[in-house]
Amino acid sequence: MTDAKKQPVRNAAARRRYAERTAKRICTHCGKAPSFGASRCQACARRAYERSEHVRGLPVYGSEFTVVHAATAETLAVFEQWEDVVLCLSFAGLSFDEVEVLQEHAPMRAVLTGFS
Ligand SMILES: [Zn+2]
Repeated sequence: MTDAKKQPVRNAAARRRYAERTAKRICTHCGKAPSFGASRCQACARRAYERSEHVRGLPVYGSEFTVVHAATAETLAVFEQWEDVVLCLSFAGLSFDEVEVLQEHAPMRAVLTGFS
């Protein structure tokens, strides 16, 4: 838990430490390695870059199945698992000839799963 009254003091201390480290030309993050004029050393900069969303990318969402009744064009249900589609049809007493199953992939899915 952080004390709200102490926060400005902490921020001031952090700014002073940042200024000290910048003046000494050492990394403002770890305070050890030389930064060669940048704010962070090479190792800290790379770590921060690798943790960023730019590198980690979007989360991979699964696909989605929409069951549409072929005769009435009515959307019966939407499922995330193919097994649920099969269960739905057996409970409703429908066959695959009577419905249309639309499969939708999340955007970027093919691109992202290609890397893993
Ligand atoms: Zn560093």
